[in-house]
Amino acid sequence: MDAEEFRKRGKEMIDFVANYLENIDELKVFPQVEPGYLHKMISADPPIKPEEWDNIMNDVNSVIMPGITHWHHPHFHAYFPAANSYAAMCGDILSGGIGCIGFTWASSPACTELEVVMMDWLAKMLQLPKDFLSESGTGGGVIYNTCSEATFVALLAARNKAIEFRRKENLDEDQYTIMSKLVGYYSDQAHSSVERAGLLSMIKMREVKSIKRKMRGSVLQEMIKEDLENGFYPFYCVATLGTTGSCAFDSLDEIGPICEAHQIWLHVDAAYAGSALICQEYRHLLDGIEYAMSFVFNPHKWMLVNFDCSAVWFKDSRFVVETFTVDPVYLKHKKEGKCPDFRHWHIQLGRRFRSLKIWFVLRLYGVDGIQKYIRNHIKLAHLFEKLMLGDDRFEIVEEVTMGLVCFRLKGNNEINKELYSRIEGDGRIHIVTSEFSDTDTLYLRFAVCYQFATEDHVKYAYGTIIDITNQMDLCSDL
Ligand code: PLP
Repeated sequence: MDAEEFRKRGKEMIDFVANYLENIDELKVFPQVEPGYLHKMISADPPIKPEEWDNIMNDVNSVIMPGITHWHHPHFHAYFPAANSYAAMCGDILSGGIGCIGFTWASSPACTELEVVMMDWLAKMLQLPKDFLSESGTGGGVIYNTCSEATFVALLAARNKAIEFRRKENLDEDQYTIMSKLVGYYSDQAHSSVERAGLLSMIKMREVKSIKRKMRGSVLQEMIKEDLENGFYPFYCVATLGTTGSCAFDSLDEIGPICEAHQIWLHVDAAYAGSALICQEYRHLLDGIEYAMSFVFNPHKWMLVNFDCSAVWFKDSRFVVETFTVDPVYLKHKKEGKCPDFRHWHIQLGRRFRSLKIWFVLRLYGVDGIQKYIRNHIKLAHLFEKLMLGDDRFEIVEEVTMGLVCFRLKGNNEINKELYSRIEGDGRIHIVTSEFSDTDTLYLRFAVCYQFATEDHVKYAYGTIIDITNQMDLCSDL
């Protein structure tokens, strides 16, 4: 493909994507294919000779599209939203075209510098403490692929900090002895990526039993005391703002002072809900963030920036940089130290120019536009909540704070499994289930995901659920 053909095909591709998104409601939100379907439709071997563009596009229609779960469908209400916008896509096209790999300032100065500024813009939108801004000298933000990566990296940095501190206290203990005594904490409502960070690092992580889905200071304090008495070194704690299961919020004001008193690195995971904290009426959920050493949220969930874009801040980037610094000569450059070299801030070396899509989104929407989009989703979640509460067969199982509504049929888990299975089979809307393991309660999750969601979409989902419920024989179960 040369530049001339790229101009032609690129424009066709833009039309293809715009048509897809514009007419997405004509498709079934969830695909009807069986595992292994695609293998049967394409050659097992790579093509030896070049193929025609039109043949590839025909296969996009016949092979790829039937196997797509349409995350941007107006009736997609599963998981959490996957953000998207034409503005972000334009930024992404530019990033792909520039195609730089910005691992150091020198490897593409604009890539590093725009990222620093974008992270400062986002930090200011969230009113993060000044310690997290680049101007602080020690703190700053960086874009990662995912929240999971941030939680893992923060754990590694916290581990190094703890080792440094313990070595100062007792020179007789080497780093491996110290590591074997480290213990971290996370709520039983935290995302599975926290447990995984413990598995990957082989550091002991203890699950804190939540009370009403919140990690409580008193329970955490008790566990820390117990661990100290047993000769362990508490060092890391993950608090969640907007849990995956039910969007519950830990109180940073409560957990933060405990972490501070014990020199525990507090990492805050606000993967989904973080975006909403740019609205003043929700900012109080971030109160206590000054106790955190690191904070992450995913603009790629709820800030109109398409995947991947996970925004991470460190109060003192030194611990991360020291954890990851390796210094081969071929990566050195003359301007080192004047700007961050992000290769020291994460696991991989190569990195894309992801700040471009943030830049396009923030400039084309403005903070006002993003707040409006988020408030609309939250308003619609409350509408769904109200509709469900209007039918006394249903109950809402968690306070609705953001764009997620957790509901269930009053009664046992079996009827809720049955309702979910019928919704899945029906295919008009797509939702998922979750459970509260402490009370063995299965429930259904309704997330407002569609970028242009309206009351009609919510009423459609509600109507579908009621329609399906009416076909069930509930009398004996209720
Ligand atoms: N943390 C929370 C609270 C989440 O809800 C999720 C995903 O939904 C994650 C972490 C994982 O996010 P990622 O896919 O960016 O690793």
